Order: sequence, then C-alpha cells, then structure tokens
Amino acid sequence: APATETRKFEAEVAQVLHLVTHSLYSHKEIFLRELISNASDACDKLRFESIANPALSAGDSELHIDVSWDPDARTVTVRDNGIGMNRDEIVANIGTIASSGTRRFLEAMSGEQKADARLIGQFGVGFYSAFVVADKVTVLSRRADAPAGEGVKWESDGKGEYSLDQVELPERGTAVILHLKADEDEFLKRWQLRSLITRYSDHVAFPIRMPTEKDDKPTDEFETINAASALWTKPKSEISDEDYQSFYKSLGHDFNDALAWTHNRVEGSQSFTTLLYLPSQPPFDLMMGGRDERKGLKLYIKRVFIMDAAEELLPNYLRFVRGVVDADDLPLNVSREILQHNRQLERIKAACVKRVLDLIEKLARDEPEKFATFYKAFGNTLKEGISEDANNRERIAKLLRFASTKGEGTAQNVSLDDYIGRMAIGQDAIWYITADSYAAAFGSPQLEAFKAKGIEVLLMSDRIDEWMIGSLSEYEGKKLKSAAKGDVPLDEADKKKQEEATREAEPLLKKLKELLGDRVGEVKVSARLTDSPSCLALSDYEMAPHLARLLREAGQ
Ligand code: ADP
Ligand code: MG
Repeated sequence: APATETRKFEAEVAQVLHLVTHSLYSHKEIFLRELISNASDACDKLRFESIANPALSAGDSELHIDVSWDPDARTVTVRDNGIGMNRDEIVANIGTIASSGTRRFLEAMSGEQKADARLIGQFGVGFYSAFVVADKVTVLSRRADAPAGEGVKWESDGKGEYSLDQVELPERGTAVILHLKADEDEFLKRWQLRSLITRYSDHVAFPIRMPTEKDDKPTDEFETINAASALWTKPKSEISDEDYQSFYKSLGHDFNDALAWTHNRVEGSQSFTTLLYLPSQPPFDLMMGGRDERKGLKLYIKRVFIMDAAEELLPNYLRFVRGVVDADDLPLNVSREILQHNRQLERIKAACVKRVLDLIEKLARDEPEKFATFYKAFGNTLKEGISEDANNRERIAKLLRFASTKGEGTAQNVSLDDYIGRMAIGQDAIWYITADSYAAAFGSPQLEAFKAKGIEVLLMSDRIDEWMIGSLSEYEGKKLKSAAKGDVPLDEADKKKQEEATREAEPLLKKLKELLGDRVGEVKVSARLTDSPSCLALSDYEMAPHLARLLREAGQ
C-alpha cells in the first residue's frame, strides 16, 4: 500500500474549522445530529444508485446507522453501510471547500450575523462539527463499488493538516471515529447518546442502532432506537404534533419549531403524498437574498429518496416551504431534466401550491397571531407571487397586508378586503402610495387631499412593493391607483372650483413653466394639496422616484 500522505486543509477549510469549533461550543451536541444526517444521506445515495446498479448493495441491503461508544478508548463512532467514499471523494468532500455552502458559511459567520450553531446544517459544513468535541477524528471509508483493498483512512486533529492511507476494509460504507477531548466524557454514556438521537434524529428514515449495555460496557448486540419510519406514510390520526415537529427538524434545515403544516394524500389516477411546512423564521439563505441553492423539499418516489427538488416542485415565491413529496407513479430512474418537463410533476406542483395557499389562508382566518408571524417572515417573498403566478394572483393578493392611512401606525395589517369594506360610496379605486419608508409614505404631501377627504390610502414601503404593484392593477374588480400619479378623485363641486382656479392662475402657471422649463412636464392647479402651496407629482405613466433611484443604483 502507498505510504501515508499528509496534506494541508485549504485555507478556507482551516478557517471554517476554527470558527466551528470555537463558536459552536454552546451547542456542541449537534455533532451527533450532523454525523447521523451525513450517514443517512449516504444510505439514501446508495439506495438511489442501487436502482441502476443492484450489485452495489448486494449481500448487505439492510441499510442502517450504528452509533457506538468505547469508554476505554474514549471514542464515539458513527458508522453507516451507505455509499462510502473513495480517496478522491474524501479529499474533495472534507478537505476542500467544494460546496458553495462553505464559502457562504464563512461570509455569514464573519458578518454581522454572529455564529449560531443552529445554522450549521444549512451550510454544508456539518462534518466539521465533529471537532467541537473531538481532538482527533478518524474516517474509515470504502465506496460501494470499490474492492476491500481500496478502503481509505482519513485522520486529522482539525488544526491544519490531515493524513490519508489506503487500508483494507471488509465492509462498504463509512465510519467516523471521534477521539473525544479530555472534558467530553458525557458523550461516553449510552443514555446521553441515546437521548440525543431521540431528540434530533428520531425520524431519520433508516434504523439508528446502538449496542446494548452490560456492566456499564457496550455489548456486541445492537438494538434500533429511533422510529425509523417514513412519517408521511402514516395516517394523520396516528401522528402527534410532536411527531410532526420532530420530523420537521429532522429535515435538517431548522432548529426551531415549524409554524404550521399541511399533510395530504391524493389517491386516484395519480397518487401522491405531500407533507409541507411553514417555518417560523426565515432561513439564513432567504435573509441573505440567496436563491441559487434551494433546498428543503425532498422528492421521494415510493419512499425512496430521489433528490432535493424544491425548484421543480414549488414556484420561487414559495421557496420558504419545507417538506416532503412522495409520488407513487413516477419512474424511479427519473432525472432532473425529465422532472422539469413532466406532466405528472406539473400536477403535483399545482397541488403543492394549492395546499400551501390553503394553509396560509387558514392561518389568516383562524390564527391571526401565527399569520402575523408568517407574514413578517415571508410576506415580502409571497408578494413575488403576484407577478410570478398569474393563476393565483387574486388568492395571493387577498393574503397581502399593508400599512394604511387608516391603519394602526406602521403595522402592516390592512388587507385589500378591509380596504374595500370601508370604501366610501362612489369611490371606485383602491388608492396606494409607494415610498422608501413608512414615514416618507405617510408624510407625503401628495396625500393631503386624500386625508382631507377621508379617502384611505395604502402605504407601501417595502422594496418589492413598487414591482409587485406593477402586476396588480385590479383586485375584486377595483382598480389600484397610485395617489402620487395623475389626478386625485374629485366630485362635481371640486371640479368647478378647480376650473375657476385654473382660469385665475393662468398667468402664474405660464410664468412658472417658463422659469422651470424642461425640468417639469407641466405646471397645473391641483386639488391634491390642502396645506402645502405646491408639490411634485408624477404623470400616470411615470416611474416612482424611489424606483427610478433603485434602477439607477442597479446600473439600469
Ligand atoms: P453536507 O452534508 O451539507 O454536504 P457535511 O460537511 O456534513 O456537508 O459533509 C460534507 C460531505 O462529505 C458530504 O456532502 C458528503 O459528500 C461527504 N460525507 C460526509 N459524511 C459522509 C458519509 N458518512 N458517507 C459518505 N459521504 C460522506
Ligand atoms: Mg451534512
């Protein structure tokens, strides 16, 4: 066999290691969740590759994850009989920063958002959490398609270097052996490991086994300690809220409870199950405006994990949804390319959208507090649906909430239905104004006449509002009109007054236009103002000033 090779971690890996081990100390027990989640991924991958190549799992097709401990050697070992890694893969996966996740993790952790253990699983740096409790980590791995002689031993103290050896390994899969730091003895206790597995990994779909214990020592006998069931396949009546919550957490993207969920089975010419969750907080990705890597919705076919397919199964504006879709009738060897043009999948996608909108509507109707939490976290993302999903525009619009001149300060809680419900007789439009901030919207002189006449105006100040409103010209048969554009609504008496005023002011208007020249399009008498002598207004087809500014900033 080749001699031991020693390599340096990439500079960024060393940085990540340092950050992880130092800042995540207060949640150090998450290492177990992360290693089990990797083992489970490896089992998923083997099961998937075995569809095309059954020889891969021949002879040992019961996939499982073993967690064992050795009080004398002071080690904890997580072993799986999944896909395994060859030498190149070990180097690529845990010695370099192959994934964009690692880079983003670094940016996030060194930025304002301080280190938070709960985020670690989102970034693809889970493996390194082993070094929070271990001062040496040994990985023994053999890829399912490699012979016993081509096992790999990877070892590191997590400081800057790792070593690689070729070793003989009789079984496929991966063992991660943690040599615990001096003060981490708590993880050498069976009950402690067991309770962590139950807490964080109960719903991993493969059996997690532990040795039984005799005289404080592990025996050679293993017993399964997690539920290991595909939760979504059970009837709703047999699933408790707690089960739903712990399954949500086992999906691996959130440490907090889910806000709400919807679980449905569709039977018929095409059968499928969906279990979809709304998180209670935006994930890091979303907060950072990230859209490239969309995870969180897993596609299964007859209980076999196929791939993360959030992009294929949900429109962009619902990218915060997490969960599982299990289809009965798709071919197991389906590829991403096929998925993108699959009619069955189109139907499943439409069903997912419907279920999610149903769920949000239910919150809005029955659970206002939860709805407020949802809206605060994801309202702006939802607004993208107004232009993205023309078919559901009306449903989405119904869910939107705004601040208003008749609302409660800055709170965004006035719906379009609320607005219509208190429109004056004869009022035919829904009036709104967009601005950079609530204060700028509320204080705009352009609203003076509306306030004086008691006409409600919606105050929109989120970045996306101006874009959104461009696709929402009508709601329930009422036009949406900008209070900053064109003319304000007048009754007959007002019109007369204005005509008179215009006649009287004719010389003044001419003079002003001469003075201002090309800097204005038109100078006219307006009913817009009650207190201020003059203001700038937009013609009907002009862009709002803050949008024009945004575009300029973006170099458009
Ligand atoms: P992530 O799981 O998000 O990709 P990790 O840091 O947890 O990030 O793991 C990095 C990579 O190392 C994994 O993507 C996988 O390719 C590889 N890996 C880790 N553990 C195992 C394992 N038990 N079996 C096979 N591959 C593994
Ligand atoms: Mg991982």
